[in-house]
Amino acid sequence: MSDIDNPTVREKLAPHRRSAWIPEVVDGEGPADGSRLGGAPWLRPGETWPACGGCGQPMQFFVQLNARDLPQPAAQALEGGLLQFFYCTSDDGACVVDAEPWAPFSPTALVRLVARDDLGGGTAAVAEPETFPGKRIVDWAESPDYPNWEETGDRGLTLSDEESDELSDAGFPLGGEKLLGWPLWVQGVEYPDCPDCGERMELLFQVDSEQNIPYMFGDVGVGHITQCPRHRSRLAFGWACS
Ligand SMILES: [Zn+2]
Ligand SMILES: [Zn+2]
Repeated sequence: MSDIDNPTVREKLAPHRRSAWIPEVVDGEGPADGSRLGGAPWLRPGETWPACGGCGQPMQFFVQLNARDLPQPAAQALEGGLLQFFYCTSDDGACVVDAEPWAPFSPTALVRLVARDDLGGGTAAVAEPETFPGKRIVDWAESPDYPNWEETGDRGLTLSDEESDELSDAGFPLGGEKLLGWPLWVQGVEYPDCPDCGERMELLFQVDSEQNIPYMFGDVGVGHITQCPRHRSRLAFGWACS
């Protein structure tokens, strides 16, 4: 994957360089508990399809990631388990009356970590009629990733306008779906805090509009699954658009 061309800017940002991993997908679902975008989720035996806490309708299934399929830092973050993300896509407006669907911890989203010990005996759910087409993740492409100018500023590194332009022209932070790396913030920096310990949660997986999933968050919004670095099962999803 490409890096920042300008050596001065690349050098300056080197302390904030992280690896991100881009999913490589093929059509189809793969094993019930395998890593995929769209398709049907793994569910516990007898478990009913998760419903939206805002409108009661079945949520849409977006992604699941099994630690066994992931690069090591992400596998560790999942403690060997299965990450799943569901989100309400009912667009009749009824759902959002009492909820802010973009905000972390909204009842319109479910992000959960199924522990590895609980995965045995699970079954693939019967697909709801309108699931997104399944895309099985067959590999991960590692790429450098960098924070945006605002986030580098928060970390004590001020970029000039020209340097900020170099960074965004080079395509950083990376858009699209990705594992770890730095969030592509559409608005400001919006990490949620862990409800248990107050620690700032960190990016686990980015979900973009109309990339691997045929869905748009607001007006071409970008969403982020974040995780407490201390409480691995504390997960959140939030999105923003311009
Ligand atoms: Zn809903
Ligand atoms: Zn915590």
